[in-house]
Amino acid sequence: MANIPADQAKVLALRAEYPILDQQWGNTKLVYLDNAATTQVPTCVLNRIITHYQTDNANVHRGIHRLSERSTAALEEARSVVASFIGASDPRSIVFTSGATSAINQVARGLESQLGPGQAVVVTALEHHANFVPWQQLCARTGASFIVAPLTEAGDIDREALIRILEENSVALCAFAHVSNVLGTVVPVAELTALAHSYGAKVLVDAAQSIRHEPVDVASVDCDYLVFSGHKMMAPTGIGVLYGKPEALECMEPSVFGGEMVAQVRFEATSFESLPLRLEAGTPNYVGAIALAEACAYLQRIGRSWIGEYERELLYALEEKLGRMGAVTILGDPEQRAGCLSFVVPGVHPFDIAQLLDTLGVAVRSGNQCAQPLLHQVYDVRQVVRVSPAFYNTQEELDQFVGALEKTLAVLSA
Ligand code: PMP
Repeated sequence: MANIPADQAKVLALRAEYPILDQQWGNTKLVYLDNAATTQVPTCVLNRIITHYQTDNANVHRGIHRLSERSTAALEEARSVVASFIGASDPRSIVFTSGATSAINQVARGLESQLGPGQAVVVTALEHHANFVPWQQLCARTGASFIVAPLTEAGDIDREALIRILEENSVALCAFAHVSNVLGTVVPVAELTALAHSYGAKVLVDAAQSIRHEPVDVASVDCDYLVFSGHKMMAPTGIGVLYGKPEALECMEPSVFGGEMVAQVRFEATSFESLPLRLEAGTPNYVGAIALAEACAYLQRIGRSWIGEYERELLYALEEKLGRMGAVTILGDPEQRAGCLSFVVPGVHPFDIAQLLDTLGVAVRSGNQCAQPLLHQVYDVRQVVRVSPAFYNTQEELDQFVGALEKTLAVLSA
């Protein structure tokens, strides 16, 4: 149950770590509701970056001098922290990448030699382009079938249709988002993973939109791969994670070659390092990884279940407030929604709404949200407005947003 005064006090205390949120634009206060695109970075994470550069910085896994050793130890400690954050028992199952997109591409490239005609890769109609296009391209390169599992009218994955796809095809891999970046649908990834496994398919979970506020536990989901980006969970940009079960990472061919991922290099041939280095060519973004681990520790300190509950309260309140505005049509009505919702106002362009909201201090996202198949082929719209609160947002900010939206629609429909 929510404890509103206690929540308010906690949120106000948390906001002290985010000077960026404390901005006044003329007469209006900034209301940042674009957290599904990127989250703000708290002072503790920024300080961790500064401390590393000021005291321990040196390239990792290369030198035997003390700075290099300290820097390497910090990176490997970060790997352990991130592993335990997602319930992975072995830190070697964590590969640092530049983000969710590069992690998915790395898996798609890494499995290429194992795919061919007669096999299939399944994604769903609610995927972000990052979890759609790499698989579509992989299938085009290998001759495997690319199959898009449909949604129910409410915006959930149609389980019956998915079962039919798994029965009728030789599916090598299913790639599911954990949370949709448009509808906010929470996908029952543990259940779908068990289903896909029962047909012999591997599973990749795109946790980019869930990692901040949903329980993400690879041991209970049992997925083969899971990916996410640091910048959606209070860490900086340019760092992300590819988790894989050891055997699932082992069976991937490296697709990026260079320093540190090699064991022996000769004129004739090269042999590769063991995991995870084999999949981390070149100097890794070790400061990003260290900052990501700090963000994990920060989220744990705040309380991940509190974050989930509080953000859900905000989203329900938002849905209710928007529902009362007759002109607004919210996309989808999934069994469970988290993180964001998107809406359209018939006859009004989403870009105009977002632009006018910005003049009233409110930052929301407008566009196709990198989900053209979902918008065009499922909902028959080109663009939407997406609102995505995070745990540092308040009910007052939602009211400011709704007030601004009312003014905006009055201007645009005048
Ligand atoms: N998947 C989902 C569901 C996303 O929302 C995003 C980012 N919007 C991505 C993947 C890609 O993340 P990144 O751009 O950080 O690689």
